[in-house]
Amino acid sequence: MVAVIAHQLEIRIHDLIAPEKCFDFLRKERWPQGICCPACTSNRVKKNGHKDSDPLCQKYKCKNCGRRFNDFSGTVLANKHHPISVWIVALYLMGLNMSNSQIAAELDLDIDVAQTMTMSLRREICARKPGCRLNGVVECDEAYVRAGHKGHPEAVRRKNRLGRRRGLKGAPGRGTLAKEKPPILGIIQRCGDVAIFMLPDVKRKTIEPILRSVIEPGSLVNTDEYIIYGQLPEWGYEHKTVCHAIGEYARDEDGDGFCEVHVNTIEGFWSLLRSWLRPHRGISQENLPRYLGFFEFIHNVRRRGKALLPSLVGILFGALA
Ligand SMILES: [Zn+2]
Repeated sequence: MVAVIAHQLEIRIHDLIAPEKCFDFLRKERWPQGICCPACTSNRVKKNGHKDSDPLCQKYKCKNCGRRFNDFSGTVLANKHHPISVWIVALYLMGLNMSNSQIAAELDLDIDVAQTMTMSLRREICARKPGCRLNGVVECDEAYVRAGHKGHPEAVRRKNRLGRRRGLKGAPGRGTLAKEKPPILGIIQRCGDVAIFMLPDVKRKTIEPILRSVIEPGSLVNTDEYIIYGQLPEWGYEHKTVCHAIGEYARDEDGDGFCEVHVNTIEGFWSLLRSWLRPHRGISQENLPRYLGFFEFIHNVRRRGKALLPSLVGILFGALA
């Protein structure tokens, strides 16, 4: 589980609208042990006036190395035009899974401005979120997300549904990036974290380095019988499969009464992802990885709504583990 789950700050919506409170909130996350220099980490820092363009933004000077910095230096909010409260409320609304157009309406922003803000926050969260390392019992599966048709509601479409809908929904076969149905690889540890990746295609050589980077050797990996997973034992994993083609969705292999061979956990995750993406219209392939990374992060911190905001501020402004 990612470290930011430990953040327990009390936040009220009223506080988010007050810029002074937003600055307090940011400083507590950024410098929980007191303000220190971003260059040399010394805490021998003196206040050095305020930013001309934002009288609440404190400037500092390091007495050790002489570096000058302010509350925003080195963060995603450095040199940004909008007040901090607009950014924090936008982040809060992102945590509630509002679309860019809803956020624009709530904050009285132009839609393009809201989109630029949310994308820069998503990009920063993706860049700073900890990498997943999964072990024990893991499930692995692919799904397909429609991305690239602006104006069309995107949908995560399970590959077994693709077959039934072929007559109505275009060319047969598995999705690829080129077909505007990029495959998403999901790897989930039972009772643990998830890692999701947009892939250019579903080939063994594409998934092998990803699986190796995410799953500890020796873990037990459950998949369906798709051929790309056939070399898991050669890659150092124990491998169990369920055969969806013959209607098998779970199997009790050791005779203890529990059907322990299944991919139901990742299937459940796909339906959460499908619901999460639904309010967002026309996500492009260029932006989709940021939406996936954002959802991976909030899924792994296991928080929703108001309780999620401290984790989001923590990952954006807190020290990296
Ligand atoms: Zn310094």
